[in-house]
Amino acid sequence: MTLATDFERRSLPLEYPFTIARGTQTESAVVTVRVEADDGTIGVGGAAPSSHYGETVDTVTAVLPDLLAVVEDVGDPHQLERIERRMRETVRRNPAARCAVSIALHDFVAKRLDLPLYRYWGLDPSESLETSYTIGLDDTETMREKTETALDRGFSTLKVKLGTDRDVEIVETIRSVAPDVSLFVDANEAWTPREAVRKIDRLAAYDLAFVEQPVPAEDPAGLRYVYERAALPIAADESCETLSDIPQIADRCDIANLKLMKCGGLREAKRMIHAARAHGLEVMCGCMTESNASIAAACHLAPLLDYADLDGSLLLAEDPYDGVPMSGGEIDLAGLDRAGTGAVTE
Ligand SMILES: [Mg+2]
Repeated sequence: MTLATDFERRSLPLEYPFTIARGTQTESAVVTVRVEADDGTIGVGGAAPSSHYGETVDTVTAVLPDLLAVVEDVGDPHQLERIERRMRETVRRNPAARCAVSIALHDFVAKRLDLPLYRYWGLDPSESLETSYTIGLDDTETMREKTETALDRGFSTLKVKLGTDRDVEIVETIRSVAPDVSLFVDANEAWTPREAVRKIDRLAAYDLAFVEQPVPAEDPAGLRYVYERAALPIAADESCETLSDIPQIADRCDIANLKLMKCGGLREAKRMIHAARAHGLEVMCGCMTESNASIAAACHLAPLLDYADLDGSLLLAEDPYDGVPMSGGEIDLAGLDRAGTGAVTE
């Protein structure tokens, strides 16, 4: 089989400026990879690089030729395990770049077998989940308005970004307009350990499901301090990048939040899910602001998860790719009527 490969960078405007404790973004810079066989089968995958993890569209496009050379060298795109391992040996880091190739090949292979990706993996679509929808940081009144808009759109699980001097006020306001939703918060490393324990004590009054990344990833002892004292369950995100982090966080959080763009591939993501379970952790899959060139693939992991935070495409002003149907946040794998990840341009 002869495979042609190419990639292109794109800048996708967000619906609203998106602010977290570390800063604000107004667009998502992504790279889309395509592999095409001489029989016309096309696989699509996306990289949504995060500077927090050392990647930009420039670093992605710099290493993609080497990664696509690995695919060509292996010669059989169905050998996903071998290709992911060889890509990891080739660039070591650059997880978003490797992930774009991994997704494109999974899409391609499932399409050649004429199966949606979850069926190729043997997963039950009725075990799918609802994604949370994220309310970024803003003045409290704007966050209240965004919450009301999210409720109008049918979302019933909301994630609220925190890391300000008015965190309790924000949660109180959002809870007052959304008394029935499942709600969790993400501090994105903004708190000190003692501050986190104090804040979580007060936030526990608002029926939150859990708190994501209260303290910096560089402070594993601080994460354990919070985990042992906090009044709510703790999820690790920035502290949980790759498979080898799972044993490190197992005794300092309740939930492992993996992301394709941190771990570097779909097979690695599945290994992280199983390793997290073996360590007694619950599992969440999150995302960056991403198009369906990558989010659609993550949706197929939903039957293996406890929590899905896969709203990356929903935060874009417009996504050039359609993906897994997601009405009101329900990741409707059974409703997907195409093979592969479901990522298609409209
Ligand atoms: Mg997070």
